[in-house]
Amino acid sequence: MDQEKQRRLRSLPAVHEVISRLEHDEEFSPFLANEKQLPRLTQGVRQVLQKARENVNRNFTDSANSSWTSSLAEFEVSLWSWLKTQLLQELTHPETSLRRVINGTGVVLHTNCGRALLAPEVARFVAEQAERYSNLELNIETGERGSRYVHVEELLCHLTGAEAAMVVNNNAAAVLLMMNTFAQGKDVIVSRGELVEVGGSFRIPEVLKAGGAKLVEVGTTNKTWLRDYESAIGPETAVLLKVHTSNYRVEGFTHNVSGAELVELGAMRNLPVMEDLGSGSFFDGTTLGFPLEPTIQQTVKAGLSLVSFSGDKLLGGPQAGIIVGKQDFIKRLRANQLTRALRVDKLTLAALEGTLLLYKNGGLEDIPVWKMLSLPMDTLKAAASALREALQSNPAISVELKEDVSQVGGGAWPTVDLPTWVCAIRLKTRSAIELEKFLRLGPIAILARIHKDWVHIDVRTILVGDREDIVRRLGELV
Ligand SMILES: *Cc1c(COP(=O)(O)O)cnc(C)c1O
Repeated sequence: MDQEKQRRLRSLPAVHEVISRLEHDEEFSPFLANEKQLPRLTQGVRQVLQKARENVNRNFTDSANSSWTSSLAEFEVSLWSWLKTQLLQELTHPETSLRRVINGTGVVLHTNCGRALLAPEVARFVAEQAERYSNLELNIETGERGSRYVHVEELLCHLTGAEAAMVVNNNAAAVLLMMNTFAQGKDVIVSRGELVEVGGSFRIPEVLKAGGAKLVEVGTTNKTWLRDYESAIGPETAVLLKVHTSNYRVEGFTHNVSGAELVELGAMRNLPVMEDLGSGSFFDGTTLGFPLEPTIQQTVKAGLSLVSFSGDKLLGGPQAGIIVGKQDFIKRLRANQLTRALRVDKLTLAALEGTLLLYKNGGLEDIPVWKMLSLPMDTLKAAASALREALQSNPAISVELKEDVSQVGGGAWPTVDLPTWVCAIRLKTRSAIELEKFLRLGPIAILARIHKDWVHIDVRTILVGDREDIVRRLGELV
């Protein structure tokens, strides 16, 4: 046994031998053509050889993996292709900490995976803006300094029906800015049923405190009436705030007060009404079978002074906090010093402008988030079948098509289960937990769901090119 092992270890090539052999290999020419790549190549070869050594050592103590324990001749043949595959992975593997991930979870707005995806043409526009100078704060007509907000304000007003608009870093920042500008040292009235916490520890009571405002809770968890707001109004009241309960639902014996009712009350008592809409959507989801929720346009129409929402939830754009509403209110927000600290960068603005233009000129299918949410069952089934086809010849796994459910994610429509098709995979010799880990720890992390003894890859969130990478990774099991 030990002798066999020593023989294999000795048959491993030296670093310079691998490199000179690669010189005749077309696949590696991009890495050899450029002098600057050479240290990386050498480093890669070293790492891969080290891995080979470890494999030889390990597999001779636990003889689980046959290719490392086959005859020496077979070993030498398979070694070279193994080295090449590993090395290519090593070299194409980015050095960055941020990496591409394959989302096989079916969660469309996956907060851990970057929430909304941009449309390809929007991503190209962002890349162009990143590489070139722009008129970010330049009025091209006059040659004088302009405002970065003008690039999206008109579009936002056009799409929402609001008088004015501005954009900050994210929706949490939007709420903070609204409270700080209009309620610092004053009272803000919020229903007890709307004191939400969303992921990443955004809590309405804490955000109000951070903005310098004092929270006045009214009503109960399940029921709040207009008279509750009315009787809480005092000399210190500055704002009536509505918060969208994005990520949970109080069901049964409930009542809450609509934005329109609050606007009426606010008008009588000379108080502004604001709403944190959370996700916010331009589309009416009921056409796709989602529960009824007012669109951004409908919320604005109710006449609130300010409405805020996220850019990267159901809007399907970049991370941003969008605030729309009355002209004089937006003006006061802009004058707040905090705005400078919370301001959006040019890449976000580019991504947002591109996305908003798609809403103006296109339809549902142009926004990746909505395209994924509206995929018909037969399209999903065809995609799952294609993945199964591609995996069927792999002897290490069992593959089946199954029906399952996807989630919207991002705290939007938490109670909605979207019917979907998944490719269910099982290893012949190892557990679902091990398979999930194997997929996640590959050169491109593949995320999937564990369901009983199976690993489910939900094709709803699988993108062009992902299938090949999934097949390749699972092929390594053979
Ligand atoms: C998601 C959410 C936020 C936070 O928005 P970000 O854009 O993630 O900062 C705030 N309020 C509500 C109601 C939300 O759903």
